[in-house]
Amino acid sequence: MTQYGFHMRQDLCTGCHACQMACKDEKNLDDARLYRHVFETEGGSFAAAGSGWAHDAFAFYTSMSYNHCERPACLGVCPAGAIAKDDKTGIVTYDGELCIGCKYCEEACPYGAPQYDEAAGKMTKCDLCADRVAAGEQPVCVAACPFNALEFGELEELRAQYGEAVTTFGLPEDTTGPSIAITPHAAGAPSVA
Ligand code: SF4
Ligand code: SF4
Repeated sequence: MTQYGFHMRQDLCTGCHACQMACKDEKNLDDARLYRHVFETEGGSFAAAGSGWAHDAFAFYTSMSYNHCERPACLGVCPAGAIAKDDKTGIVTYDGELCIGCKYCEEACPYGAPQYDEAAGKMTKCDLCADRVAAGEQPVCVAACPFNALEFGELEELRAQYGEAVTTFGLPEDTTGPSIAITPHAAGAPSVA
């Protein structure tokens, strides 16, 4: 089975949020929902040094969406059978007709990825722009990034090309197997809490 996923480059991301806004526009999301989040990690300090100042301050960004995990926690808890994993693409699909709005999937997901639609009384989530992908296009977040900090493709190929750095970053890799690889910023590991 092919497993599609994302490669995210902290070393190129500027935190501009273009990916997030392109997704919000493409999926026509209301103010309460985001399928992609951009997290900032910052640290370091300033100190007086002679007649001036020295510092080791840094900031970098991590852009993350739903992870189309190998073992989706949301799928296992859904009592309505609304969530499934496509055996050709690895995309975790969701059927809004079946959803009863119980929010079990939201509680189960270690990334907080499913987003509840209050108006419809249904859960919603990223579908990896499945229609665009089927047409040979990139997910809209990838296409929108002006700095090429996001890449879409077959996960094993991405990891072979860039390494499995994500496993060192504290993501719940062991429990869900998120379909993402992250090239780190030189300053360190990301915060995704
Ligand atoms: S909110 Fe919908 S998709 Fe999520 S677990 Fe409940 S029925 Fe399933
Ligand atoms: S569009 Fe690209 S550079 Fe901007 S926040 Fe998203 S991933 Fe980072």
